[in-house]
Amino acid sequence: MTASNDNHGTTSLDTDTVIVTAGRDTKSQRGFVNPPVVRGSTVLYPTANDLHAHRGEFQYGRHGTPTTKALQEALMALEGPKCAGVGLVPSGLAAISTALLSVLKAGDHLLVSDSAYRPTRNFCNGMLARYGIETTYFDPLIGAGIEALFKSNTRAVLVEAPGSQSFEMPDVPLIASIAHARGALVLDDNTWATPLYHRSLEQGVDISIQAATKYIGGHSDIMFGTISANDAAWPLISEGIRLLGTCAGPDDVFLALRGLRTMSVRLAHHQRSALEMARWLETRPEVLKVLHPALPSHPGHAIWKRDFTGASGLFSIILKPSPQKAVDALLDTVKLFGMGYSWGGFESLVIPFDCSDYRSATTWAPGGPALRFHIGLESVDDLKADLERGLAAFNAAL
Ligand SMILES: *Cc1c(COP(=O)(O)O)cnc(C)c1O
Repeated sequence: MTASNDNHGTTSLDTDTVIVTAGRDTKSQRGFVNPPVVRGSTVLYPTANDLHAHRGEFQYGRHGTPTTKALQEALMALEGPKCAGVGLVPSGLAAISTALLSVLKAGDHLLVSDSAYRPTRNFCNGMLARYGIETTYFDPLIGAGIEALFKSNTRAVLVEAPGSQSFEMPDVPLIASIAHARGALVLDDNTWATPLYHRSLEQGVDISIQAATKYIGGHSDIMFGTISANDAAWPLISEGIRLLGTCAGPDDVFLALRGLRTMSVRLAHHQRSALEMARWLETRPEVLKVLHPALPSHPGHAIWKRDFTGASGLFSIILKPSPQKAVDALLDTVKLFGMGYSWGGFESLVIPFDCSDYRSATTWAPGGPALRFHIGLESVDDLKADLERGLAAFNAAL
């Protein structure tokens, strides 16, 4: 894969420029800014000679189209010079499962952060276990202590920075340096920060995964996943995708690229509003704790400051000990915070969660009911007023 075209070879462009220009090839699109949605399976070869030699930029729909190429090039430029390739898959979970299947084999051992996305655990405990791959979960705050968990057959470590419900912030560069000394690859579910705010490949991560369903899509209208890999891991990922026959639908590829072009302005707004909401919630008597890595009160704040250039719109709070009916009164009163899974779209969301029944390396006992918020692009004043009504209903139901 080559670099982008429409930035005219200019090096050291700001990421805000890269995200708008990378992967554009207006000349081959007869002047149009965006690539067409190429729906295609068969690619015709002009001569028998070309057919025998598999000559031509595109071979078969599953292996890539002008639409997938544009998105891959844009993502590669955004991930930075360490990125050797980007795989496009039909969901965030498919990105995780495809990446794990691509780098592991029977008899291998895998280390996974105890704060990882729950379906990631289900995949490890279900399919990977059936294929003879053992998973050990580790405390995301283990730091250098992870060394003791390595076995002679530990092949990979999966981190999520921060955990997308509980927001523990692992020390990714430290874990990566220990993993590499042991010959293991490091996978990072980088969905929360995106490559805009966390260049994980530059922090020692070998495989950086995005649930592009979230901020890249940005409009709650697609399921999509991306796998970005460095030189060490890309041959495995590329082979895995080829062998598994994984590919994404052309409309979703187009919408992911369309979403990516505005991700920088959307994320900046999500960041600003979420921080304002988080700071406001810290002052509320109903709230025991706010779990947001960009707040100085967060235990992972120093790592966030060192490794990240921004924060997105997702954070959690712990309410003071209260009965379920009080929490439900809050949830049923708010109007601007929809109740639903996923996040990363333009709209605000709230969801109650409890990690206590599936954690295995750590204990989840935060001291009260937990709520996760996604702060969307609505006015912060409206969101505060809405939540204020919710908190009043909470208090009334205590
Ligand atoms: C949503 C999410 C996923 C899964 O993405 P889907 O596109 O829903 O399959 C993976 N990891 C994290 C952190 C997520 O939030």
